[in-house]
Order: sequence, then C-alpha cells, then structure tokens
Amino acid sequence: MTVTGKDVPQCISSFAEARLQAVLMENVTRATYTTPTPVQKYSLPIVAAGRDLMACAQTGSGKTAAFLFPVINALLAANVQSRAASRGRQYPDALIVAPTRELASQIHIEALKFCYRTGLRAVVCYGGAPMNGQLYELDYGCNILVGTPGRLLDISDRGRISFSNIKYLILDEADRMLDMGFEKDIRQIVEGRDMPSRRQTLLFSATFPKEIRQLAQDFLYNELFLKVGRVGSTTESITQVMKYMKAFDKQTEVLKELRALPGRTLIFSETKRDTDSLARYLFNQGFAATGIHGDRAQREREAALRSFKMGKITVLVATDVAARGLDIDDVCHVINYDLPANIDSYVHRIGRTGRAGNLGRATSFFTDDNKGISKSLVKVLREANQIVPDWLERFASEHRGGKGGAMRRGGYGGGYGGAGGYSNSAAGGGGAAYGGGSARYNPYGSRPPPPPSSTGERDDSGY
Ligand code: AMP
Repeated sequence: MTVTGKDVPQCISSFAEARLQAVLMENVTRATYTTPTPVQKYSLPIVAAGRDLMACAQTGSGKTAAFLFPVINALLAANVQSRAASRGRQYPDALIVAPTRELASQIHIEALKFCYRTGLRAVVCYGGAPMNGQLYELDYGCNILVGTPGRLLDISDRGRISFSNIKYLILDEADRMLDMGFEKDIRQIVEGRDMPSRRQTLLFSATFPKEIRQLAQDFLYNELFLKVGRVGSTTESITQVMKYMKAFDKQTEVLKELRALPGRTLIFSETKRDTDSLARYLFNQGFAATGIHGDRAQREREAALRSFKMGKITVLVATDVAARGLDIDDVCHVINYDLPANIDSYVHRIGRTGRAGNLGRATSFFTDDNKGISKSLVKVLREANQIVPDWLERFASEHRGGKGGAMRRGGYGGGYGGAGGYSNSAAGGGGAAYGGGSARYNPYGSRPPPPPSSTGERDDSGY
C-alpha cells in the first residue's frame, strides 16, 4: 500500500475514527464490516479532506465502499435530501461512471445498502435495459447516480438529468472503460456537458497506462495517488496450477477438475461460441452450469449471475469481458480453460478466488498456443512462491518476446493487503453443495442452455 502526493491526510485504522454519520455507521455495522480495508483507510480521510484521488485498486479491494462511504457521509453531513425531479429533470449530487451494466448494478446495490434510512436515493441506469423504468426511478429523486457512459449521455440528451450539481465524480475501472472505447463518452460527460469544474473527482483503475494518466491529468486536481493490492487475495492464498495438454483434452480435464473440487467454479473461455458450447456440455454432464458473454441478453446474464451468487449455479463459464469487474465472492476454483493472451488478464482472473481471507485454487490449461504468455507466467508464479513446472520454464526460455510477454505498463499494486480482518464471507472453499445430478438449476427454465452462438471470435464486444 503506497500513497503519493502532497499533504497526505492521516489514514484511519477503524471506522470509528472516520466519525461517520450515525445512520451510515449503522449500515456499516449491519453489513458486518468491522475493519476498513487498506483502500478505505486512506480514501475516507482523503475524500473528507476535499482531495481528489487516483486509486490503483481492483475489485476485491473494497474499492466500492472506499468511494461510497466518504461520499454518502459528506452528503449526510451537508444535510442533502432527495427531491422529486424538478420539471422532469434530476440534479444528482454524485455521479459514478462504470464500464459495464453488471458493475454498475453491483455498485448500485452497495449504494442502496449504505443509503438505507439516510433519506438519500441511489439510482442506476445502463444500456440494454428499458429506459422507462430508469427514468421513473430518477423522477422519484436521485442523489447518487450510477451509470454506464452511453446511457448517461442518452438520458442527459433527453434533458432528464443535469450534471450541474455534481459534487463528486467517480470513474470506476477507468482502464476498462478506455479499453472498451468509452473515452469519447467519458470526456463528453465530464467536459462536454454542464459538469462543474469545482467538484471532487475519484478515479479508480487496475492499471495506469499513459491514456489513464492523461485522463487523470485532465480531470483531477492536486490529487493523491493510492496503490493497493487485492484484499485477502495475497498471492499465497491462491494455489496456481498449470497443466500442459492438447486442446482436445481440455473437455476431459475440465470434468476431472470439477469432480475433484466441487464448489463454486468460474471457468474462463476465450470465445462466445466456446463459452456456450462448454456450458452446454457441462450442463449435459450433470453440472449446474451456465455461461455468460457479451452476446447474451442482459436479462439472461443477470439471471445467471444471480443464480451463481445464490449457489443455484455452481459452474459459471464466462469470457473475460463478461466477468471483468463482477464481484463474485467465494469462488473456490478458477479454471482457465483458455489462457488469456496477456498476463494482466491472468492476474485479474485468478484474483476471483482466494478472496476475503479464503484459500483459492486457479488451474490453467496450457496448450502450445499459449507459449507467448509463458515468460510472464513463470514470473507471476515465482513471485507468488508457486511451483513452476519444468515444461513451462522450457517454453519461457525458448520463447523470445511476443504477445503478452510483458506486464503492461503500470502493472499491479505492490504490497498486497494482509488477509486478516475482512472475514465477511464464510471461510473455506467447500462452498455451495452440488452433487452429481440432484436438483439441478436451469436458468433457461425447462430448456437446456441455448445452442452455441455463431461467434467464434474473442469476446471483446463489450456491452
Ligand atoms: P469491492 O472491491 O468493492 O468489489 O469489494 C469486495 C468485497 O469486499 C465486497 O463483497 C464487499 O462487500 C466486501 N467489503 C468491502 N469492504 C469491506 C470491509 N471493510 N469489511 C468486510 N468486507 C468488505
């Protein structure tokens, strides 16, 4: 955990020190958050001191509460109340921009939880869902607006929201938003509408390439820079296993893995078509499995995610795009059915397991097509004190450069947070019961999962 910048406020070590408003503190207690995570220890006093913040923090670090708590607290301290729309237009106090519908709705759920009984209202809007319901919610009052860039602009174009009252602007997973081509939309929201320049801006990103630094330079003022690892996901808490095989052995291997380690499993596959066909195959083999990717209807993705969280589905097959940013707790096993082309994605993916102090396992199927990532894999495994197989060492020493060979600029936050103290979720990896064929859940009703989609391309479609 590092903080850089001028006049860094003293960090807190307990929520009591943050002097949160009583009603917010009650909600924190209700959520059983006993100790602030490292990013929260710093963000609370930094935002309270009126400073801008650029934070290198990923899903799993407690970043959502890190921006929600100080914002809700400040709005409460200022006695802000929600109001019905004035001439059909809302003037939110805080705006949170997120790349995907899933992340936006996850943030919204957290916001609802911590706005409970505060008189503040949080509303979410994202594309791919009917506009009317979202406009209806807005009309009832909106202090904290969470949204994806396109839909926010759309609603602003219709004159239903104004950014002129924004006191807090939060950009979450900023690198992801740029990867998905949202820079123009974000700039339009921040610079092209009525957003005041007197505001506090908090920018969260897992990596800090040049484009993000430029964005920060344009949007932030006298900011502090925080770098933090994933809470509870110390690299040691994840056992990383590499398996070398031929592509056609993957199906057999994945069955072995699932049978050997029952429990919530997240499987990464590269293409939309493979995601569908693997989910279908596993379903037919008796596993409560389904798949999510960029082509799946929003309703279906949400249903699949809900079922996975509730334990009705125990195997979720996903493309990177669909899984990124999703707060899926208690995954006991991540399987890289297809390894990603770059090491950043690998680190993101395996971080889905071993969270909040639990132990996790990540198994990767390595084929000859993955030689390009061998060097960086060896580095990551070594750093985490994991076993590096001889064959991987050999590929790494044979392979010169190539795609995915190097860490992206910015890299990941060093100094992973300690695991202690964030035991919000049950320990151990046993997780949800699923046994052989009993009481299987099918999110598609009586139908099996849909047939493979026609796209065999990588899922980089975004939403
Ligand atoms: P996030 O990084 O915001 O996606 O949060 C990851 C998970 O950590 C979520 O399930 C949060 O509910 C949980 N969490 C965040 N802050 C705390 C805390 N201070 N104590 C316990 N759990 C937390």
